[in-house]
Amino acid sequence: MCRTPLMEIYNRLLDRFGPQHWWPGDTPFEVMIGAILTQNTNWQNVEKAIGNLKRADCLSVEAMHGLKPEQLAELIRPAGYYNIKARRLKNYLDWLFARFDGDLVRMESADTYSLREELLAIHGIGAETADSILLYALNRCVFVVDAYTCRVLARHGLLEPEAGYEQVREMFESALPPEAPLYNEYHALLVRVGKEHCKPKPKCSGCPLEEMPHEIEPW
Ligand code: SF4
Repeated sequence: MCRTPLMEIYNRLLDRFGPQHWWPGDTPFEVMIGAILTQNTNWQNVEKAIGNLKRADCLSVEAMHGLKPEQLAELIRPAGYYNIKARRLKNYLDWLFARFDGDLVRMESADTYSLREELLAIHGIGAETADSILLYALNRCVFVVDAYTCRVLARHGLLEPEAGYEQVREMFESALPPEAPLYNEYHALLVRVGKEHCKPKPKCSGCPLEEMPHEIEPW
């Protein structure tokens, strides 16, 4: 695919919505934790869990690593699936200590794609979470794909509906300039248009992409 349709989508979304200021979080570690907590829940619930961690003075690598799984689960309860997510956080922290002695500066010096492979090998860390950590916490040039991305592109005839995560990620990364700020903003804008317009039953009327060619008739 040429890069023009993808850049046109980006420009139209940015013109309408403006910068989205992602990812909310005061530190790279908070962004990493948010990326794991946000699986299968909305951001408001993640904020409550992060608020609990901050109030308990546990939003640091060392403090969180020192918690028992049940203590961590209780603190992140508002994020849902809290026992599962506590195990995922512990898995992530165990890896962080085993691999980098819990030092995020050392983690930042690692090569992007070997880091990606290692993240994907952690139980409970899938591609979207790994790539969110790489892009939003570490500012790496890795495009984050989600269900909104696939839905918008498929509806505009730019993607086969059955395209897999890696295929979509590689399509973006080969078509766009390798600029982390662009990837950061683009993913956030796709989430915005997905939430406001490109729902399971789309609201094309008034959508920033309404004028772009559709694979199917606009609703
Ligand atoms: S709501 Fe319609 S115009 Fe907007 S992105 Fe979805 S398919 Fe395109």
